[in-house]
Amino acid sequence: MNNKGILIVLSGFSGAGKGTLVKRLLELHGEEYALSISATTRKPRVGEEEGKAYFFKSNEEFEKMIREDAFLEYAGYCDHYYGTPKAYVDEQLEKGKNVILEIEIQGALKVREKRPDTLLLFVTPPNGDELKNRLTGRGTETQEVIEARLSRASEEAEGVEAYDYLLINDELDICVEELHEIIRSEHRRLTRQ
Ligand code: 5GP
Repeated sequence: MNNKGILIVLSGFSGAGKGTLVKRLLELHGEEYALSISATTRKPRVGEEEGKAYFFKSNEEFEKMIREDAFLEYAGYCDHYYGTPKAYVDEQLEKGKNVILEIEIQGALKVREKRPDTLLLFVTPPNGDELKNRLTGRGTETQEVIEARLSRASEEAEGVEAYDYLLINDELDICVEELHEIIRSEHRRLTRQ
């Protein structure tokens, strides 16, 4: 047995409810988890705070971090960069925390390549109409951005088979407990020697 945490990638269509799911997981079982905060070049949405939602960067700043090899992975998504700062992830794994990365599919595949023991989970809403409702209901995006994200969602659907688990986010609390159980059992499996 080793006491290190495991790396968990959570992906899903924009609007699938990943953010809410992770927030609830941390409320209920926060002592076992650490959430990685990504860097991005997109502008903050209303209510998003620096260092909580993201570390908001200019293109120049982001590219400097790429050159300095500060990212575990990074990717382009709908005209912006998004990346996972490496130092925090490794520090938390060492402390025994299971580290959650809420990232899109290209990044997920890069993490899996670098760290094969990473657990890949894909979150989906019960159906496509629900996805559209959630994206529109959020009220933070223009129609153009919503369309771009829906089109990206259908592209991403093709990559789902690379994931270890598909989670259907119908009832939030049930989905949270399923997620927690999957992580616990995978943690036991991956840390057994
Ligand atoms: P949003 O703009 O809605 O916050 O995020 C857009 C997409 O980028 C989501 O699928 C989100 O999971 C993904 N994302 C957020 N942070 C990262 C990251 O550090 N790396 C990668 N590859 N994707 C990310």
